Amino acid sequence: MRIACVGGGPAGLYFAIVMKRRNPHHEIVVHERNPVGRTHGWGVVFWDDLLASLRANDPESAQAIADQAIRWSGQTVDVEGSTPLHHAGGGYGICRRRLLEILTERALALGVEIRFESEVSTIGQVSDADLIVAADGVASRLRRHRADRFRPRIEAGRNRYVWLATTRPFPSFTFGFVRTKAGWIWCHAYSFKDGMSTFIVECAPETWSGLGFGAMPAQDQMRALEAIFATHLGGHGLVSREDRSETLPWMSFRTLSNRSWHADRLVLIGDAAHTTHFTIGSGTRLAIDDAIALAAALSEHDTLPAALETFGMRRRRALARVQRDARLSAAWFENLPRTIRYDAPTFFTLLLARRSRLLRHMPVTAYLSLRTIYTKLNGLAFMRSVTTGGVRRDVRSRAPRGIAGHIPEPPRR
Ligand SMILES: Cc1cc2nc3c(=O)[nH]c(=O)nc-3n(C[C@H](O)[C@H](O)[C@H](O)COP(=O)(O)OP(=O)(O)OC[C@H]3O[C@@H](n4cnc5c(N)ncnc54)[C@H](O)[C@@H]3O)c2cc1C
Repeated sequence: MRIACVGGGPAGLYFAIVMKRRNPHHEIVVHERNPVGRTHGWGVVFWDDLLASLRANDPESAQAIADQAIRWSGQTVDVEGSTPLHHAGGGYGICRRRLLEILTERALALGVEIRFESEVSTIGQVSDADLIVAADGVASRLRRHRADRFRPRIEAGRNRYVWLATTRPFPSFTFGFVRTKAGWIWCHAYSFKDGMSTFIVECAPETWSGLGFGAMPAQDQMRALEAIFATHLGGHGLVSREDRSETLPWMSFRTLSNRSWHADRLVLIGDAAHTTHFTIGSGTRLAIDDAIALAAALSEHDTLPAALETFGMRRRRALARVQRDARLSAAWFENLPRTIRYDAPTFFTLLLARRSRLLRHMPVTAYLSLRTIYTKLNGLAFMRSVTTGGVRRDVRSRAPRGIAGHIPEPPRR
């Protein structure tokens, strides 16, 4: 099969890898508009489930990714200089550029042709392919050609964010909230390689304009953000690839969904098909899952239409719940004043519960009461008897209690 993959991000490259592994006779060309080594963003997070899936599909690149990833442990929340709180758990961070280098090297080793600085804006440019994979990101040009069939829907988020980095290590995933004269502003920070961390700054549009960011040169914005987050940065500076430009690349997150994911021999994967808000850190994982699922469907079916139909059905079903979670998470941050009025441990409990539909649709105090009752009942439900040395004792399970079993205080005014 002759395959044209448009876009050399995680989706396009991983699809080329798994297809070549399934059948080395496929002729696969990846078209990437950027020169070698250029990409946007800094580090991305992922969890063990992605590593397991990578190992099952291509152990070589999985090992290289595991070797380059850095482990972060737990989540920390720091509200306005109050004592930071920590919650257990953990995951990995990896430099996005390094991830793409690994996938590029692996694809080349398997015989995939990669054409850098090759922008594909029309289907006509790749018309000799039997299958055209649009892996060209959220602003996909190819998707627009068949918008009648895909029926894309894009919802722009309310908040503004900018994806920066810092040299300060963040060994746990850190949320830092600062109150300014123009409103709350916060960071999402985690290490992605030795001496480098992602530092995403987010705020409401009123805060963004109130701080004067609309008319401020990039370098001045960087200094202003360093002053706001001085405690979190601990003397380290912020880094942007655009600090010599006129302004920083603040964005509103676009949540994209499509009714259909294929039109004739053109199929959408990764961010071209769907996006999920960055506060659930899943976009790369989902892009790779799409790549694996598309390769699997193509090998299960004899005809292209049947394979693409199966692929679209499976992945749209899998995506529905993740996109719902991502919308809830984005909305939680857009309604920060609703929860940040609570004391820090309660606030952290609410932050961890941000994907909850109950929390979204009921008053916060009612949600907290319900949670307390549930926790108690859950604890009782798991009570069991243990006999040691002939003495019988009731043992209560450790039911989830939010942050350290904290009992919420009433909200601040
Ligand atoms: C602030 C932020 C933080 C994030 N953090 C995480 C995280 O922690 N964990 C996580 O899993 N995900 C995260 N994501 C999401 C993740 O970055 C994306 O979901 C993922 O990169 C999607 O991969 P993709 O290959 O589909 O698209 P992309 O990575 O966007 O790649 C598309 C590629 O296509 C190329 N291209 C575009 N148009 C053309 C064209 N016409 N011709 C040729 N080439 C073209 C582009 O140059 C690009 O290289 C984050 C996203 C944001 C915005």
